[in-house]
Amino acid sequence: MLSIANDNTFLEETLGGIVQVDDFTRNLLKIHKIIQKEGQAQPIISCIARSDYMLDRYMLDDKRESTRVRQVEVNAIASGMSAHSFNASRMHQFLLSKYRVDLQEGTSIPENGSVKMIAQGIIDAFDTYGKPDSYVLMITEDISSNFTDQFGVELQVHLIRPDVRLVRQSFCGLPDKLKLGPNKELLLDNAKELAVVYFRYGYDPSNYFFEQSWDTRLLIERSRAIKCPSINFHLSGAKKFQQVLNNSSKLEKYLDARNAFRLAKTFAKFWSIEENTPAGEEGFKVGLSSAKKLVLKPQREGGGHNIFGNDVKPFLEGLSHSEERSQYILMEYINSPKEKNWLLLKDDGKYSDTTRLDLSEKLVSELGIYGSVVANGSDIISNRASGYLVRSKKYGTNEGGVASGFAGISSLLLLDESVEDKEFSIYFD
Ligand code: ADP
Ligand code: MG
Repeated sequence: MLSIANDNTFLEETLGGIVQVDDFTRNLLKIHKIIQKEGQAQPIISCIARSDYMLDRYMLDDKRESTRVRQVEVNAIASGMSAHSFNASRMHQFLLSKYRVDLQEGTSIPENGSVKMIAQGIIDAFDTYGKPDSYVLMITEDISSNFTDQFGVELQVHLIRPDVRLVRQSFCGLPDKLKLGPNKELLLDNAKELAVVYFRYGYDPSNYFFEQSWDTRLLIERSRAIKCPSINFHLSGAKKFQQVLNNSSKLEKYLDARNAFRLAKTFAKFWSIEENTPAGEEGFKVGLSSAKKLVLKPQREGGGHNIFGNDVKPFLEGLSHSEERSQYILMEYINSPKEKNWLLLKDDGKYSDTTRLDLSEKLVSELGIYGSVVANGSDIISNRASGYLVRSKKYGTNEGGVASGFAGISSLLLLDESVEDKEFSIYFD
């Protein structure tokens, strides 16, 4: 991700076709170009990311069924749920202990360092800035149901390093509060110098609803504060890169052959559907034939934008301008095995503030692994990977968000290779 973020030519080439038709990507890339032209006031860049995976069923040569890991996407901005996933793991550990449930031999629930790692990533950036009396700014929604998760990160930063002061502020409240100092220091309320700006918001076009929103984002990027993510890291999370770097030979631009091969083994198939390119025309045909199970994705984050399965063909046929095709990528559908599990749901009936425990025979799960990096160009100052998020949703539900009400948070149970999957209620039909 760092290599993509640092490769300006590649960023601009890859997203160049999209900016014709997508205002949001155009605005982000415009800020990126301005910063490149002016020269970065802050050469240190950082990112807290979450790479998401699902299991995919496939057939072995001897016709037995097995599973493999497939990457869904990489979230390079506002990677959430770390505090909730940390608490869910602790709750599961607690319940096993309280009710004296012994895990079967060869199995274990791994420690979940998610929120601690994210807090440490923020502290790494703060320390790199090197001014003990400066602040961390966390940018959030105006009114947020993510508040408890965000507060969990704030609390962890405080527990690890009580000297690091963190301020949470809504994005739309910032225009009157932020300005640049004489050396491009980013000042909050005229007095607080900001060492780190941690974006938990600003990933979706709808977040830029107020008049000075883009100017505010530009002001932050122009400043000396370390941005998490910096604009180039934000852009590196675009789903288009998954399609463009979709095999090991393409990855060898950034990785040695062995690591490129290992990474590419987790990739699903992707197609461009761009017009007037042989590969894009081929991809468009694949989308129309809809013989395969497919997902069509625009360059968006945060749920609710993808087109699944049978909806792909009519959607493609309904695109009014063929230029619009460049903003989408087509992805092979990941066919997850189902599992038996429980979902604790908000009761949608009369008693809307109560919860309901729902036994489901058919849940599918998605695993996210958190990572954080602070770097000066390509020189890595800190690089951490730790902690996980498991989201489980009912089979057949397309979107996978927790806050959006589709999924619940679960924990991992690791099995030694000697233990058979079948004993653990993962099944294939
Ligand atoms: P977003 O940025 O909106 O989170 P994702 O690519 O993560 O976009 O897609 C949202 C959800 O859709 C995922 O959490 C996953 O449950 C489901 N999904 C995405 N891609 C696929 C796929 N190729 N196969 C099956 N499900 C998918
Ligand atoms: Mg996602």
